[in-house]
Amino acid sequence: MNVTAYAAPAAGQPLAPITIERREVGANNVLIEIEFAGICHSDIHTVNGDWGPQPFPVVPGHEIVGKVTEVGSGVTNHQVGDRVGVGCMVNSCGECTHCKNGDQQFCARGMVGTYAAKDRDGTTTQGGYSTHVVVDADYVLTVPDGIDPAAAAPLLCAGITTYSPLKRWGAGPGKKVAVVGLGGLGHMAVKIAHAMGAEVTVLSQSLKKQEDGLRLGADHYYATSDPDTFKVLRSSFDIIINTVSATINVDAYLGLLTVNGALVNVGAPPESLSLNVFSLLTNGRSFAGSMIGGIPETQEMLDFCAEHAIGSEIEVIAAEKINEAYERVLASDVRYRFVIDASTIG
Ligand code: NAP
Ligand code: ZN
Repeated sequence: MNVTAYAAPAAGQPLAPITIERREVGANNVLIEIEFAGICHSDIHTVNGDWGPQPFPVVPGHEIVGKVTEVGSGVTNHQVGDRVGVGCMVNSCGECTHCKNGDQQFCARGMVGTYAAKDRDGTTTQGGYSTHVVVDADYVLTVPDGIDPAAAAPLLCAGITTYSPLKRWGAGPGKKVAVVGLGGLGHMAVKIAHAMGAEVTVLSQSLKKQEDGLRLGADHYYATSDPDTFKVLRSSFDIIINTVSATINVDAYLGLLTVNGALVNVGAPPESLSLNVFSLLTNGRSFAGSMIGGIPETQEMLDFCAEHAIGSEIEVIAAEKINEAYERVLASDVRYRFVIDASTIG
């Protein structure tokens, strides 16, 4: 079927409407009428060419929520009318150790990204800034009742990308967690770490968003532009989640970790990060990375968010405002996720 979408025609070019083809609904496929699609900074990195050449035209969007309108004959886990979500991947081999463990994001044959990726049938995937999408049922999540569908969309990337490392590194009562950058990922990290019972500190460039940060669940808020911050907070955190989309001074942040503390990087700037090994040796610190999460953990995160009444703080926009929203994200002027109302697309 032909559907309307918003695509970047070339690197750094404004997004514009386009017609794309979605495949026939196969036996294990689900057709989703998209209601909302979040704008992740990764969409911007991708279409701006930060991460290398892309198969333009690219339809971004990997924070998708919508309603099932058709299912293939072999689909048992989703039904017509269900509210569902699709995150950053739409396929993987399903057979390697990692897929079998539910860590499809680490598929040994390569996970298939929701857009700008080569699918296992050789076609190029196109993402959620569109009216409909056809996805293998095993990569479709159930959005629990009780979460507003627009506020649920960003959970499919920003939610799982922060939930997964917070859980893996043991955020909870008695743990001090710092979140660097209060954007899309950062504000979800604050909400989720708070719900997990940790003591949460925001490390933002300025104090402009302090009131919001405290309202979202942070216990403390510091400006990283103030050099005193790095003195006052020295050796104090168990876990630091870095969500910054640009390079950071890794040594300065490592210095904020207590004994055996971990700085987990989820930000994905195009440039390399560097560090002095003595920043790690001191206090036995770790520097780690984390990439989204597997399908079972993504469902677990959605259920956790429903249970704790957590949604994203969103600004819903019409599709014609996508390019403006991109500019505002790049200027750190997002509170805290733009979500496209897909009914304005086609
Ligand atoms: P975002 O909404 O733009 O948030 C990033 C925040 O970082 C900004 O709001 C800002 O917070 C801070 N920041 C931006 N530029 C900065 C600079 N030059 N110096 C210091 N701080 C700066 O972006 P996002 O959607 O949350 O994504 C964040 C990063 O994570 C991107 O690189 C994205 O590609 C990546 N990502 C990774 C994964 C993964 O699986 N690992 C998944 C999704 C996204 P303050 O204003 O509070 O300082
Ligand atoms: Zn994302």
